[in-house]
Amino acid sequence: MEDRSILIAGAGPTGLTAALELARRGARPRIIDKKDGPTPLSKAVGISAHSLDILEASGVSSKLLAEGIKVRRAHFHAETRELATIDFSLLPHRYNFLLSLPQRDTERIMADTLATFGIEVEWRTELVGLTQQDGKVEGRISRSGEEEEKHSFDIVFGADGADSSVRKSSGIAFEGYTHRRQWSITDAEIASWPYEPGAAQAFVHGGGDVGFIIPIGGNRFRSVSNTPDALARVPGNYRVSQVLRTDHFHIPAKQAIRYQTARVFLGGDAAHVHSPLGARGMNLGIEDAASFARRFGDGTLAGYTDERRPVGHRWIELSERILSTVQSTNRLVQTFRNLAMMTIGRFPALQKPLIERVAGLKE
Ligand SMILES: Cc1cc2nc3c(=O)[nH]c(=O)nc-3n(C[C@H](O)[C@H](O)[C@H](O)COP(=O)(O)OP(=O)(O)OC[C@H]3O[C@@H](n4cnc5c(N)ncnc54)[C@H](O)[C@@H]3O)c2cc1C
Repeated sequence: MEDRSILIAGAGPTGLTAALELARRGARPRIIDKKDGPTPLSKAVGISAHSLDILEASGVSSKLLAEGIKVRRAHFHAETRELATIDFSLLPHRYNFLLSLPQRDTERIMADTLATFGIEVEWRTELVGLTQQDGKVEGRISRSGEEEEKHSFDIVFGADGADSSVRKSSGIAFEGYTHRRQWSITDAEIASWPYEPGAAQAFVHGGGDVGFIIPIGGNRFRSVSNTPDALARVPGNYRVSQVLRTDHFHIPAKQAIRYQTARVFLGGDAAHVHSPLGARGMNLGIEDAASFARRFGDGTLAGYTDERRPVGHRWIELSERILSTVQSTNRLVQTFRNLAMMTIGRFPALQKPLIERVAGLKE
């Protein structure tokens, strides 16, 4: 472990998990990120039971649990009529909830915990490119925009996000497409909330518009919609006291054709990107990183792509099906979807496979 040099490119949730999981096993990876520090954005807010399992050994989970909100229920509505309640407490697991915490806090906790292992993230440090030769990977690294320096590593883990330099430098294709429809996101402080406190809400509308909202702490909420104004599709008598952030995005569905080439490995958004519905993006990255670190330790890195790529592929397929079903304008599909939701809501046994997948306990 200690003899081999490892570079982790990217200190988002994936890179930080890889660094933590390697560090607690005795390795001393370098972890670099071109940003100034952890993301200032809330980005991913849902942390799964499986991610909490993974992050327990390094001591991260207890800190996440101390700051996050335990979301135990999600209510599904067609227009204003409630069709179903999905109950996470049915999960046969000690973390029988979805933990809601803005990604900036998750990253801060991870980076602070990593420092307790004696490893500091090297911020403002960019991997500009890499080449593999003679059993080594040579990385070109630039600090604070200064001249590039060449450094040699045994292994590189590319956790540098959807636009990954590691993936591009390694010539690994990123196949897929990006949906044309624009989505919006709003983080806001809301007063007089009319729905169950601490629960998530989903609204599907006849014309194919959707709105989702989840509490993220205090009286703050995160809403997402496939319309220009995320909160406009969340009906109810509530008052927006402050809008904290708004943004727009297009949903991608892309995956790297392989997750490794010789001594270079990919994880997280560098390897797969998909719809945020189901809250799996960040969590899949955490799982990739944990697998990479475990395999690095026990000398089974050769099997990394074969383990992780099918998991990413299955989720991309499922999240695309969920996306088209919730946005459908076809009356027949809407009727079938709403009936299915009502049935699932009524029978806990039917909810279990769904919540186990969101929790990352079943692929
Ligand atoms: C609006 C929004 C909402 C989301 N909601 C959810 C959700 O509820 N649940 C969920 O699971 N996921 C969600 N996601 C997805 C989630 O944010 C990502 O899947 C997650 O951030 C991926 O983590 P990562 O570490 O793989 O990549 P990133 O978070 O993108 O981190 C990559 C890091 O690499 C650094 N980097 C890039 N290039 C280089 C380079 N050349 N050299 C050095 N550093 C580099 C970047 O600065 C960055 O810090 C959401 C995303 C968005 C945008």
